[in-house]
Amino acid sequence: MIKYALICDADHDFESWFPDSASYDKQVKRGLVTCPVCDSAKISKAIMAPNVARKDKDRVIVADNDDAPTPAAPAQPAQNIALLDEQQQQLRGMIRELHEKIVANTDDVGENFPEEARKMHDGETPARSIRGKASFEEARELLEDGIPVLPIPDLPEERN
Ligand SMILES: [Zn+2]
Repeated sequence: MIKYALICDADHDFESWFPDSASYDKQVKRGLVTCPVCDSAKISKAIMAPNVARKDKDRVIVADNDDAPTPAAPAQPAQNIALLDEQQQQLRGMIRELHEKIVANTDDVGENFPEEARKMHDGETPARSIRGKASFEEARELLEDGIPVLPIPDLPEERN
């Protein structure tokens, strides 16, 4: 018996057992092998190793999407930006202003942000406004502990 990783013309992959490779060829030619998903008889051999790798990768990507943080400040949909160009200019100005204010009124603690925020919250260091870098996970943990953190909006120019 031989197990083949197979793929139909609609890109569904599946596995099937055959007595030997000649039987595989015969059965596929006669249309006896069909896709379990869409019933297509247009079946070919999937390349074994990359197929497995691709499957795993797909699963990881799907999981990532599920866990992906919803941005706190949702980006404007592309159409709106095109339609509301003047508003977009205003918005850019506001974001830039806000950004400058944050930068002017906070101490940059860089990568130490989560640690510093926690220390302040626990009263180990005097409260002050700080900014820095935190991963989504770190920011979420801070929020869960009742430490108010906010994402700083990116400057639109920096995105482009
Ligand atoms: Zn199929």
